[in-house]
This record gives sequence, C-alpha cells and structure tokens, in this order.
Amino acid sequence: MSTTERGPSLLALSKEALGARVVELGGKAFHARIVREHVLAKGELDYARMTSLPAALRERLAAELPIFTGRESARSTAKDATTKLLIEFPRDGAREVSVETVHMPSLWEGGDGEHVPGATLCVSTQAGCPIGCPFCASGQLGLARNLASHEIVEQYVRGRALGPLARSVVMGMGEPLLNYANLAVALDVVHDEMGLGSRKVTVSTVGFPDRLRKLAPSKPRFQLAISLHTPFQAERDVLVPAMKGVPIAEIVAAGDDWFERTGREITYEYVLLGGTNDTGSHARGLGELLRGRRCTVNLIPFNPVEESPYRRPSAETVEAFRAALERAGLVATVRWSRGVESDAACGQLRLRAAAER
Ligand code: SAH
Repeated sequence: MSTTERGPSLLALSKEALGARVVELGGKAFHARIVREHVLAKGELDYARMTSLPAALRERLAAELPIFTGRESARSTAKDATTKLLIEFPRDGAREVSVETVHMPSLWEGGDGEHVPGATLCVSTQAGCPIGCPFCASGQLGLARNLASHEIVEQYVRGRALGPLARSVVMGMGEPLLNYANLAVALDVVHDEMGLGSRKVTVSTVGFPDRLRKLAPSKPRFQLAISLHTPFQAERDVLVPAMKGVPIAEIVAAGDDWFERTGREITYEYVLLGGTNDTGSHARGLGELLRGRRCTVNLIPFNPVEESPYRRPSAETVEAFRAALERAGLVATVRWSRGVESDAACGQLRLRAAAER
C-alpha cells in the first residue's frame, strides 16, 4: 500500500490535525507532541523506539501513520561521502514529481579549535524549475510543481538521518522565491523544531527584485545568495532566461536594500563557464558592478551536465579569475562541486532516472 492511500503523512499534518489523528488511533492529544518531537527534534523515525508512548499506540502509528509522503527512489554515494537522494513525491496528474536532496559531510571548526563533523544539506523547493538556465540540469524538464512545505521539511528529516546537519543550502532544484510561502513555513519548522540556526541556512535565488524587497522587512531566517553569473545584461538574458530584461543593476540595488534592512551580507554566486564568462573583462565588469559593497562572490566552476555546450574552466583559470576579483577589491571564494564523480552531479540523478523510464 502506498503512503498516499493511507491518508496524509505525519509531516503533512498540522500540529492540531496530528493531535486529532493520534486520538483517532487510540492515543491522547499530548502524545502528538511527543511524536512530533521525536521525529523533528530527535530524528527518531522508528515508532517502536518511541518508548515514552504506550506500546499499543506505537503499533497503531507504525501501521497507519507513515512519517513521510515521499519515497526514496534512488541513492548514490560518492567517494567523498556525499550522498544524493532522489525522493519521489505524489504525482501531479501525469507528471512525475521527484527532487534531489544532497548530504555533504565535512568538518567544522568548533569553539575550542576542535573539528566537529556536520553535513551541509542541499534541498529543493520545486520539482523541476521554470528558470531555464542553459548550464543547469534542473530546468531541462521544465517545472512539474511547487513542493508543499512538508515536502521541504521531509528532505531535512531524511537528510539528517544520514548524519547530523551543520548547515543547509536551498540550492537544489527550483527557484525558492517562486515557492516562497511554502519555503518560509518549512524553514520555520527547521529552525524552531529541528534546531538549525537561521545563519546556518542559505537561500539561493536568481534575484527577483520586487520579491526580494517584499521579503526583507520580515527579517527572514536565512542568509541570501543571488545567482548573478555575469556583469553583462545581454549575457545574463541568455544565462538566466526567465530574468530576461530584468536589469542587473536593479537586482544589485535590491540586494543593497536587503543588506540595509537585515544587516546580513549577501553572497553573489557566479557559475564559471570556461571560455564564456571567465574573461578579464568579466572580472573587471563584476568589480565595477559590486564595487564598495560588503558582500562575497562565490565562484562555482561549472559542474558538467550531459549534452551541455559549456565546459569547466581549468583550475588555473578559476584561480586567475578569483585573484582578478580580489585585485578589483572584492572578496571572492571558490566552491568546487562535491560528489561529481558518482555520475550524479547536481540534478543528474533525476535526469538519469527520467531517461531510464
Ligand atoms: N534557482 C536558484 C537555486 C538553485 S541553483 C538559483 O538559481 O540560485 C543553485 C546554484 O547552482 C545557482 O547559482 C545555479 O546557477 C548553480 N548551478 C546550476 N547548475 C550548475 C552547474 N551545472 N554547475 C555549477 N553550478 C550550477
């Protein structure tokens, strides 16, 4: 029997509805709080081990209340321990709805100079994506649908089951600002009930200026990253098709506004495409565009996608570009993609699964 035939999953129920469901299953309303706490705060996904609940209730829960709505339909682990999950959610009509969630373990500096393990989790907000960037695998099949807030939370819970989370980036499939209402609800749960601090979560967007301006006053619980990719308008119109005609200067102005209102520095992301946007004039243009701002440019060497016309620049070119940005007065870092050799670079587990059907 599939989870959907058994009615909504635990994560899909509001706190009130979960209380009612637990009573239906023979428990008391306060047991609902205990169940939710086990799943969200403690990461306990086996009802049998929630021993503070009556045994009879644990059995009914295990039989009748699935925790998740989705199903893990593929998993791949790379040599660097990066694990990619493909999660299939209920279909939208005929359309397949599956997303990738990526768990990237690493060591973080603790307070006393010790290094503590903790992963960065990359989560998706939409199945597919309507933006259509030609270098990105996620947009190649278009948008299937927005994820519900509990489907976003499900990725965090499944991800944490692979190992403790230190950080999260909302940089998986989809454009977060086009599903912001659901994302905001999910991030509240992640913050309040799963305990991931708001400075530990980064949301990446193509930067719709009007939407950014509306968000800033609400003091959102995340750090902002804006995908810029080039300082030149005509080129951005090609690299970020859904933003065609939206002036780059307006995006940067909305970013400035965000910084003023929230006090949080922005990261500008820049996918480095060999021979396309990695020239000296691009570095100078970017230096002029962002001059005087407290922000970081994060360079992402292109992660090869099948049948893409783009290529990854050499390590020397990447370093030269970074150095040129520093000479122009910017703070620039490089992010080499992880888990690439597992044949599942970002978005490709899903593309591959689609090709095999
Ligand atoms: N839609 C949002 C978030 C998803 S993508 C955005 O565009 O920001 C997260 C980042 O990964 C974006 O900067 C995106 O441009 C980048 N990216 C997508 N495909 C890539 C690839 N093949 N190689 C390197 N970076 C890529």
